[in-house]
Amino acid sequence: MGKTRKIKIAGSDDPAVPPAPAAGSRSACSLCGRPAVTFIRYSGAHLCEDHFLGFVRRKVTREVRRQVRLPDQSTIAVAVSGGKDSVVALRILHDILSARRGTRLVALTVDEGISGYRPSSLRVAARNCKAIGVEHHIISFCEMFGLTMDRSRKRWGDSTPCTYCGVLRRHCLNKLARKLGADLLATGLNLDDTAQSILMNICRGDVERLARLGPHEKAREGLVRRIQPLRLVSDKESFLYATLKGYPVHHSVCPYAGAAMRNRFRDMVLELERASPGTRFCILNSYDALRPGLQARYPPADLAGCSGCGEPSAGGLCEACKLVKRLKDGTGDRVQGTGRKRGTGDRVQD
Ligand code: SF4
Ligand SMILES: [Zn+2]
Ligand SMILES: [Zn+2]
Repeated sequence: MGKTRKIKIAGSDDPAVPPAPAAGSRSACSLCGRPAVTFIRYSGAHLCEDHFLGFVRRKVTREVRRQVRLPDQSTIAVAVSGGKDSVVALRILHDILSARRGTRLVALTVDEGISGYRPSSLRVAARNCKAIGVEHHIISFCEMFGLTMDRSRKRWGDSTPCTYCGVLRRHCLNKLARKLGADLLATGLNLDDTAQSILMNICRGDVERLARLGPHEKAREGLVRRIQPLRLVSDKESFLYATLKGYPVHHSVCPYAGAAMRNRFRDMVLELERASPGTRFCILNSYDALRPGLQARYPPADLAGCSGCGEPSAGGLCEACKLVKRLKDGTGDRVQGTGRKRGTGDRVQD
């Protein structure tokens, strides 16, 4: 085993010592010299399995502490689709919080009614919950809105499916989390997703939405506060963590995801990161520095009960009721007043 070397890794507290290749091999862990399982380009560190798992877990622990101060008695709902990010978020939160008496973890999955995709991911989500003894609750578009994504596809008009699906998913998650008495709703948004969301909102000129991107700093009446435990964990790190831990993960892609605007931004962010490692952190850091000013300029609207469903709404019908009405009326090509022109992919934004 090589000599232990301390190295600075972005997002960690490790003391800064310039990375140096381990003797005789570029693929030896920069911290302990054992065989590395990955190379973290933005820090220049090679990490073995143990150091990589610890690195990710420490990042999540610190980020959760930064985002929220957990009360002694609390319920945390985790949105679990069965994909790698939501599974990793659930399992790390469970690891971190299971020692805390008085903290209850519940998992929520939304069934949008997408055949060939959601049923198998639901099973994966359920397997993970069962493995760690976490309650699993499912809520469906069918029971909530009397429609499914598959059945409403002819009514989407010129809009991308995620335009509808994203709004309805958030609505379902908030309602179910609140019903279960959750103080917080954790999503699996990772570093890549967050950098994409920031750029997408800038490119669309949607500054108001940019100001509202999670994680939420305060609870608002009727809205369960959202946190993002994986905000500093990259896509690749999340995948590798799930793989090394042997978690069951659903790898299929939603059949409607191809039209999502997010896809272009995914490529763009990856290209920027490739050319200049660390760019995703720079995007987040810039956003975090601008965020207080954006929030002061665009304070959250006062919320009242939706006239259709009673859920929180900035006035009249909530976004979900407006969209459901359009889908049922067959006027899907006029998606206005939702604050969103395009779909954003399988990601809960705010
Ligand atoms: S990719 Fe779009 S349509 Fe598919 S589940 Fe996600 S938000 Fe819904
Ligand atoms: Zn190591
Ligand atoms: Zn409503």
